[in-house]
Amino acid sequence: MRLHALASSSALAAVVLIGGACAAGPAPHRPAVLDESGPQVTVTRRGDRLVVDYRFGRDAPVWAFMDSALETDTRQPWRPRQWTVETPGVVMERRGHYDIVRSADGGPVPREVRFRVTPKAVDLEAEYPTLLFSNGAVALPTRQLDVFALDSVQAADAVPDDLNRVKLDGGPSRVTWRDDSGPVLFNGRRRDALTTTDERSYVLLGEATVTPGQGLSTVIDPNLPPWIGEEIRDFAPHVGQYYRDRLGAPGAGGDTPIVMVAWNGPTERMTSMGGSVLPGLIVMSFEGRGVTTPQAEIRERSRWFIGHEGAHFWLGQTVRYQFADEAWITEGGADLMAVRALKALDPAYDARNELQSEVDDCADLAKRPVAQAGERGEHRAYYACGAVFALAAEGAQRQRTGGDWFDFLKPLLRQPDGVLSREEWLRGLTRVSRDPSLRVDVERLLDQGAADPSAVIARLFQRTGVAFRLVDGRVVLN
Ligand SMILES: [Zn+2]
Repeated sequence: MRLHALASSSALAAVVLIGGACAAGPAPHRPAVLDESGPQVTVTRRGDRLVVDYRFGRDAPVWAFMDSALETDTRQPWRPRQWTVETPGVVMERRGHYDIVRSADGGPVPREVRFRVTPKAVDLEAEYPTLLFSNGAVALPTRQLDVFALDSVQAADAVPDDLNRVKLDGGPSRVTWRDDSGPVLFNGRRRDALTTTDERSYVLLGEATVTPGQGLSTVIDPNLPPWIGEEIRDFAPHVGQYYRDRLGAPGAGGDTPIVMVAWNGPTERMTSMGGSVLPGLIVMSFEGRGVTTPQAEIRERSRWFIGHEGAHFWLGQTVRYQFADEAWITEGGADLMAVRALKALDPAYDARNELQSEVDDCADLAKRPVAQAGERGEHRAYYACGAVFALAAEGAQRQRTGGDWFDFLKPLLRQPDGVLSREEWLRGLTRVSRDPSLRVDVERLLDQGAADPSAVIARLFQRTGVAFRLVDGRVVLN
């Protein structure tokens, strides 16, 4: 699950805040089996530089980096701008969708290759970015060092963008993390030595303020404007605890979830917040003069962000959806979890307003099949219509037991295969409502769309007791 920049920067506007959407889904496929002949990598932080040493276990004409994403702003590959090859006779270049290394003379890549890295914080398209802290600390995604072998540079040109559908000659790198100035931080704990393989998280090299908490722990840039740190430290654990109280511990495990927050400095004429979510970890980064003093809008967006992304520890990681066209299950569901949690923790929170946006957007976007919205680039439909379906399910639950969305969701989180399928979700709706006509309407919006989606939404709400009125054909929540 990856969230592209939530906010954007601009040299012209004083404040730019663009609502973003996280692409929550099955993690990109990468071979889970450790390739025994795969490389051993050592990452060493030396001041504001990193030294990355690869030791390849076998000869190959070309090694390609799995994470070869483009920078969001420039649409240029990020690695060539941050990594420099130090080993003589080795060339790094872009081939097709991938950064590769090869030997200058056409023979196999030397077994040992050293890179010098000047880390930079840039947003990447559909990949986890390097996080830069204002005090020189740096957090790297653990899987940034994975590579696969190729027979030739021509073969690299032919590798498709989406690795989900390709069989690769490679696997997770075995990475040892070191910091010349002290222990490294992983899963909220300091360690003198750390080796990661297939874990999907961040490793922090350098100083940060670690605050252990009950529901959530925080790892915060020491120079982050204090009000943001206080806000997150105060609010995030309550969200985590609320979800835990309602749904039990998230599936994956024992470790307390962590929120990691980086500060990129008080850049003039900028107000920016971005982030992503990984198993047990939410990362956020703030930048700009605009966030150095308390701002209601930033506070609200950061709460929403934590509420939505934190919900994915349950709906997204305890259970995930099976196919990309079922993202409405996790995105709409996480939205309604966030609305209910934020309202429970802050009675002043305007839940009605948030839900009305979901209803309006769904009414707008469900003219065409919601399930295929992603292919049309209309990902918002998964959030909006998913939340509408969740509201109907919650209404049915309320009519049946007096319960709410969490009561509907809790039994659905118990899936032995870790997947909450569309069929399981719809069966849950029929089981609770005892009204099979509900799923027919939901499926109509998913598979066909409707000429007048508001009429379908109104029928769903009517039968499930969701309070609304029709104003000129528009569904207005009471
Ligand atoms: Zn999401």
